[in-house]
Amino acid sequence: MPLATAEAPRVNSRSTTRPFALVVEDELPLVELIKYNLEKDGYEVEVARDGEDAILMVEERQPDIIVLDWMLPKLAGIEVCRRLRSKSVTRNVPIIMLTAKTEEADRIRGLDTGADDYMTKPFSMVELTARMRAVLRRIRPALAEDKVEIGDIILDRTAHRVVRNGDEIHLGPTEFRLLDHFIQHPGRVFSREQLLDAVWGSDVYVETRTVDVHIGRLRKALLKVGGEDPIRTVRSAGYALNV
Ligand code: CA
Repeated sequence: MPLATAEAPRVNSRSTTRPFALVVEDELPLVELIKYNLEKDGYEVEVARDGEDAILMVEERQPDIIVLDWMLPKLAGIEVCRRLRSKSVTRNVPIIMLTAKTEEADRIRGLDTGADDYMTKPFSMVELTARMRAVLRRIRPALAEDKVEIGDIILDRTAHRVVRNGDEIHLGPTEFRLLDHFIQHPGRVFSREQLLDAVWGSDVYVETRTVDVHIGRLRKALLKVGGEDPIRTVRSAGYALNV
C-alpha cells in the first residue's frame, strides 16, 4: 500500500483518460479551428502561440501529441522540433508538423528533424485528426486494447495477467497499473509526480519516493524471469519503459 502522508494536497484537476494535445500555432483563426476539432475528437487541448512558449509548456507538462506549426514567432517550429528531439525526456513525444511550404526538400527536412508526420496547409480537420490518431496508434498501440504485447511483455487487462518471455509475472495492483501506464506510452519519460498522478490518482496523497519503491518491485518482478531491464531510470527526470 502507498504510504499515506498528511502533506497538503497536490493541486491537479487534469484528466488522465483524454489524450493531451499541445497546439503550437500563432494564427488565431487556425488555432481556434484546430482546438475546436481536437476537443470534439476527445483531446484535452492547450495552445502555445510561439516557439519559446511551446518549449516551456512541454517542460511543464508533457503532451501526448504536439501539433506544431513551422512558421512561428521567436523560435521556428523546426527548431522547436529539433530541441524536443535532442532531450531524452521529450525525444519520443509525437509531433505533427504543419507547413505552408510545399517544397519536397522542406518536407523531408521536417521528417529528418524528427517530426512523426506533417500536413501541408491548407488541410482538412478530418485529415488532421485522422493523422493524429494514426500517429498515436503507432506510438501508443496499447491505448485501447485488452491484451497488449510490447517487446517480450504481454499485459492482459481483462485477466489482469502479465507474461514475459512465456513466463507469468506476479505483480501487485500498483505495479500492474504502473506497467500498464508505461505500456501506454512506450519510451516516454515520466517524472515521479507524473507517475503519482497517473497511477495513484490526484486525490491520493503519497510521497514521491513511494514511486521508487514500486518501480523497484516492478523491475524486480520483470527481471525475475530473465531478459534485460525494461525500465530505464533517467537521472533527475524519472522513469521510462524501454522498447
Ligand atoms: Ca504560423
